[in-house]
Amino acid sequence: MRTDSRREGPIITLDGPAGSGKSSTAKAVAKRLGFRHLDSGALYRAITLGLLRSSVEEADWGNLSEQGFTNLDINLETFENRFQVLLRGQAVDSELRTPEVTDRVSFVASLPASRQSILGLQRKAGEDGRLVTDGRDMGTAVFPHAELKIYLIADLEERAMRRLREVGEDSPDDFALAQQARALDTRDQSDSQRTISPLKKAEDAIELDTTGLAFEEQVQAIVDLAHQLTLL
Ligand code: C5P
Repeated sequence: MRTDSRREGPIITLDGPAGSGKSSTAKAVAKRLGFRHLDSGALYRAITLGLLRSSVEEADWGNLSEQGFTNLDINLETFENRFQVLLRGQAVDSELRTPEVTDRVSFVASLPASRQSILGLQRKAGEDGRLVTDGRDMGTAVFPHAELKIYLIADLEERAMRRLREVGEDSPDDFALAQQARALDTRDQSDSQRTISPLKKAEDAIELDTTGLAFEEQVQAIVDLAHQLTLL
């Protein structure tokens, strides 16, 4: 794969709507290639959690300056093959996936000052390359020169089903499925309609529809694309 000369290895970005399997796929692709994985959504979730734990009233979140977001103290700790998100020096994981965070994260991510506050952190994670990263704007705004950009999509109902399975609901009823689909769709609308770094396919991204693909198949498809580019 041709690589930006300033880096030791390539950057692969996976963007797409909520529930399209970006994070789990990116993590598996990174493992297969021996690259690091950065889940950028976790950073926006950490900002949201930091705000919920702060003394700033929710009604005032939209008025915070970039410094206000920086003061939340979000960081990334580097491990051999992954990045751990830190909030005030503490590792945060499952706390990032609660409904309280999920319901508010798209609003927080729509604020230019919040996006700006973690841009440097994300770019630093990519400075040596050998990175697989997923989010909404990784190929368009954060790493516009990434060597391989994937735009992952899947039918809304399939994405809702996958999300429910992730939380152990293997045979949800129609109501639960419709409710999950609505929640994903609301987040997608917000993410694609915001003015700053909206969710959209980068012009040079390859679209991969994973609706009919098994997990291993979608991982393999991306690993294959990475190997094909190596031949160029
Ligand atoms: O990927 P995940 O669902 O964890 O992302 C949570 C939210 O963070 C998204 O709905 C979106 O609002 C925001 N996000 C973003 N840009 C990214 C990654 C996530 O705006 N690169």
